[in-house]
Amino acid sequence: MSSTENLTPSNFIRHIITSDLSNNRNDGKVITRFPPEPNGYLHVGHAKSICLNFSMAEEFDGRCNLRFDDTNPEKESIEFLESIEKDVQWLGFTWAEKCHASDYFEQLYDFAVQLIKSGDAYVDSLNAEQIREYRGSLTEPGKESPDRNRSIEENLTLFSAMRQGEYKDGEYILRAKIDMASPNINLRDPAIYRIKRAHHFRTGDAWCLYPMYDFTHCISDAIEGITHSLCTLEFEDHRPLYDWILKTLKTPSHPQQIEFSRLQLEYTIVSKRKLAQLVNENHVNGWDDPRMPTLAGMRRAGYTPESIRDFCERIGVTKKDSWIEMAVLENCIREDLNDNAPRAMAVLDPLRIVIENYPDDETEILEVSNHPQKPELGRRKIPFSKTILIEQDDFSETPPPKFKRLIEGGEVRLRSSYVIKCNKVIKNDEGNIIELRCSYDPDTLGKKPEGRKVKGVIHWVSEPHSLSAEIRLYDRLFRLPNPDSEDSFLDALNPNSLEILTKCRVEVSLSEAKPSDRFQFERTGYFCIDSVESKPEALVINRTVTLRDNWGK
Ligand code: ATP
Ligand code: MG
Repeated sequence: MSSTENLTPSNFIRHIITSDLSNNRNDGKVITRFPPEPNGYLHVGHAKSICLNFSMAEEFDGRCNLRFDDTNPEKESIEFLESIEKDVQWLGFTWAEKCHASDYFEQLYDFAVQLIKSGDAYVDSLNAEQIREYRGSLTEPGKESPDRNRSIEENLTLFSAMRQGEYKDGEYILRAKIDMASPNINLRDPAIYRIKRAHHFRTGDAWCLYPMYDFTHCISDAIEGITHSLCTLEFEDHRPLYDWILKTLKTPSHPQQIEFSRLQLEYTIVSKRKLAQLVNENHVNGWDDPRMPTLAGMRRAGYTPESIRDFCERIGVTKKDSWIEMAVLENCIREDLNDNAPRAMAVLDPLRIVIENYPDDETEILEVSNHPQKPELGRRKIPFSKTILIEQDDFSETPPPKFKRLIEGGEVRLRSSYVIKCNKVIKNDEGNIIELRCSYDPDTLGKKPEGRKVKGVIHWVSEPHSLSAEIRLYDRLFRLPNPDSEDSFLDALNPNSLEILTKCRVEVSLSEAKPSDRFQFERTGYFCIDSVESKPEALVINRTVTLRDNWGK
């Protein structure tokens, strides 16, 4: 269990909800929503929003909807929608209702007509460039469009004709009529509907007119009776528009928008658009590449849902933007796997040892526990034989000071097994070590050797029994804490983020491992059977995280 278990750090949103409840706002109800756009896979930043929305609802006996904000048909797809459902469920949350902004297209259209009828929206024929010119700047007020005072009748006719497909894309747009001189540029007659001939993955070609985000989001919240609409800080300046639309339309419910800071995680990118670019330009092998900060990538790397939820708890929720160190995330999975992953032995870079005084054809079956602190994780059998494999770097011919592993003439303990002594180093013609000749002390199984101290313990596998495996060592995808500090975030990619080891040998118990099973390989790190490419006869194993935080060292 993690160290933060049972601790519920407070956050300012919890305070707002508590105070709303004590003032009996919203009839004592708490209804939240997680509103992704199905235009990519969810990333660890979304996890923060998911955990917040679902846990606030849960904590106050409320409900949380999953709402797809699907108003940009060109970028959205059923693949993305399904991946989002899967990821939210995998994180461990159950939505009250699954909703789509596209479910509300007809209602949204009616609300737009209502705005036109009350004189609060108009059809504009300015093109995109002109609209930008007329908008003004932070220091200068905007200019009113010549179409701003079009009659209500004419607006209604034009808007209806827009829907009927009588105009080209971009020929007209519908704008809210608010205030071209407002210091808040979002209130300078924002666009609320645009003509766009694009096939929508849910509504097909039924519409050639799509509502804009700001118009859609607040109304969707109101339709669903959301009480607390939690979003990230960049929407703070949009809140006056959110409130203006709902107030002007006199919707029966008026949700409260509350902004919190986005998760920014060092050495990674949390922007679907940029992650999509990594995928589309083949900088990574798909959305679920274990180096990706997507939930699909993290799952494939071996992250558990618990570790990600723990991470979201630890970072808390504030109004201040800040960067979170990668070590915070890595420590969450490390602690979880240290507590829960069974142990096993794997040799990544094998060196053969022949034990000269061990009988030729004998195999001994040693029984070892799967977890030093958790007998409930059971025991397993590991074979010991005359030929074993150890890591190349657990032997040294020219040992540095304090080297506790194997040296010529020295002794070392094989984990859960015997003490061996190295008698002879065998080299090939090029002078490379190819084999060690050793002897074992039969009296040292589970016992200290008589009359001498053996300090080092190394891991090993029995060569004839071991399975070969490809092990993929992942490193950070970017070499800089803030990849966006370069001209292009692509310039910050870490060229060595993936190292593939093909000569690895793992203990035979792994023949029963299933895709996604997680292990601590003794002394080596935390690993996970690849869920996509691993096969029983050709294991592919991903490193989830190193045993200790030694990045950059
Ligand atoms: P991206 O830029 O990655 O596409 P987005 O905000 O456009 O992000 P949405 O699908 O609209 O993606 O996001 C769904 C919800 O998740 C929104 O409420 C958004 O505020 C929240 N969210 C997105 N990124 C983060 C983040 N890094 N930290 C916290 N919440 C986030
Ligand atoms: Mg968005």
